[in-house]
Amino acid sequence: MKVVRSRAELREALEGPRRRGKRIGLVPTMGYFHEGHLSLMRRAREDCDLVVVSLFVNPTQFGEGEDIDSYPRDEDRDLQLAAVAGVDLVWIPDVPQIYPAGFATSVEVTGGLTGVLEGDPAQRGPSHFRGVTTVVAKLFNSVQPEVAYFGGKDAQQAVVIQRMVRDLDFPVKVEVLPTVREEDGLALSSRNVYLDPEERERAAAISRALRSVELAAREGEVSTGALVELARSELRGAGIEPDYVEARSAEDLSPVARLNGRPVLVAVAARVGRARLIDNVVINQEATP
Ligand code: AMP
Repeated sequence: MKVVRSRAELREALEGPRRRGKRIGLVPTMGYFHEGHLSLMRRAREDCDLVVVSLFVNPTQFGEGEDIDSYPRDEDRDLQLAAVAGVDLVWIPDVPQIYPAGFATSVEVTGGLTGVLEGDPAQRGPSHFRGVTTVVAKLFNSVQPEVAYFGGKDAQQAVVIQRMVRDLDFPVKVEVLPTVREEDGLALSSRNVYLDPEERERAAAISRALRSVELAAREGEVSTGALVELARSELRGAGIEPDYVEARSAEDLSPVARLNGRPVLVAVAARVGRARLIDNVVINQEATP
């Protein structure tokens, strides 16, 4: 596995394979790998000739008072795990390389996708997604992958990136893969490392709440208000006051009052100790007549 830091080295490493028509897959990450990241890398390994992982803790997607300084990092461990997953090339740019002095351009998706849920000004705000789409656009331009892999755990991020790719004609196929979970359901996240043992146990209530929502929908509940209340009460039972629990169209994130046969995203964000965790489920349930 090759590790490169500069864009020049990256270009050089990709030039030959691209000329030979190799299929290049990109897995963008912020590092501190867990099985969620590795599932994307393994899938890329199956689908592509050349697997590129970018490792960059992107400052522009962190807001003021967020955890960029304490965000967990372990480059040596990440490189070992990536090598075992069959990655060919890891690109680890530094901040000035991505944002050189005078950097003044950004990519912003609007259309109601980035001002709700995580992008709600009371949550991380729309600047979070502006940071995400700007860096992903840059990663796409530098690597020029045929396919890029993202996790369904960040469901809104995936919707926003898919819209950017469509609207700006990026010649990249976006694959969104299922959320990888611990045995008790907790979605894997680099931020889980912030949880002490008691918080770790309580955090399982988030996925339990989503599971209850899924089951209730399967049993015929069509009111998203009732589903959201069910999730809230499960969280309350574990002493978790969520930042939000919301049901929205999984396609365009517009509000949905009743299940209607289209995919509905039920998304949760909650603080447990000093970790702010997000999780979601997508319900594909027909409304009962
Ligand atoms: P991050 O390093 O947290 O920015 O995540 C890099 C990629 O891994 C993103 O596409 C995430 O959606 C994805 N990812 C993070 N956690 C999980 C998980 N538990 N299961 C599947 N994918 C994940």
